[in-house]
Amino acid sequence: MMKRWLCAMLALGIALALLVPAMPALAEASDAGEGAAAEDVQADAEAGAEAALAEGVDAAEDDGHEAASPEDSADGGDAQPEQADETDAAEEAEEVRLPLTGVKIGIDPGHQAHGNNEKEAVAPGSKEKKAKVTSGTAGVSTRIPEYVTVLEISLKLREALEAQGAEVYMTRETHDVNLSNQERAKMMNELGVDLVLRIHCDGAEKRSKNGIALYCSRSNSIAEESYRAAEVILPRVCEATGAKENGIISNDNYTGQNWSEVPCLMVECGFLSNPDEDVKLNDEDYQWKLAAGLTYGIMDYIAARDAQE
Ligand SMILES: [Zn+2]
Repeated sequence: MMKRWLCAMLALGIALALLVPAMPALAEASDAGEGAAAEDVQADAEAGAEAALAEGVDAAEDDGHEAASPEDSADGGDAQPEQADETDAAEEAEEVRLPLTGVKIGIDPGHQAHGNNEKEAVAPGSKEKKAKVTSGTAGVSTRIPEYVTVLEISLKLREALEAQGAEVYMTRETHDVNLSNQERAKMMNELGVDLVLRIHCDGAEKRSKNGIALYCSRSNSIAEESYRAAEVILPRVCEATGAKENGIISNDNYTGQNWSEVPCLMVECGFLSNPDEDVKLNDEDYQWKLAAGLTYGIMDYIAARDAQE
């Protein structure tokens, strides 16, 4: 009997001796498993806590609005969620508020691949007619057509304006369009933009002629406001480019300005008939300078306009 019991004890001892060295390994394995699981749980918990927090905030806000009884507001406790709401809204507004936020700008890149010689009235009610749209001039050195150069400048101008928060509308984004100057003006009238810039390049017989000029209408309802915009924009664009200031010209010669019901300027960015200016006007860096200068000018004009209102 005793011998059998000893045998059992011995067997148990052997079994234990075999098991014990295996135990740390088991423990490690289990730790590793638990550790990984714990991390997962922690991650889940964090996500959950965030979600709960977000829900809590929402719930608190909802509660704040729902529990807005006179007794509750007396202790001031409910004023806090309201204040938090206002702060959030203010911060959000500040985040998106750029100098041209809420401002609509129209860009009309002059001309198109093929001119249209059909005629249209140069102004509302006028018997004088001009070609619907011409194909423009071309670079004396580069041979690049004006409609190509002005679209490149216009697309950069759009980017620069959008970076300042403006809502930008283009009359064309490709060369292959058939849009008369009257149609372009009406497009912008319908959109009710704050200002239209008609982007062109100049040409002259005298090769030495160079510099930037702005044109606006003289007699229609937007003449005065357009001139005010030109006065602010011209120095800025000449400053940014180093181009010569050729002044502001008011006349009733241009269909695009005559049909406009919103402030409208034609920007003659420089002379493609001048060998050096032609090269500049077709240079990416110079085009960015033009876009930046026009954008700064527009920002100043809008600021001045809004300060007057
Ligand atoms: Zn032109």
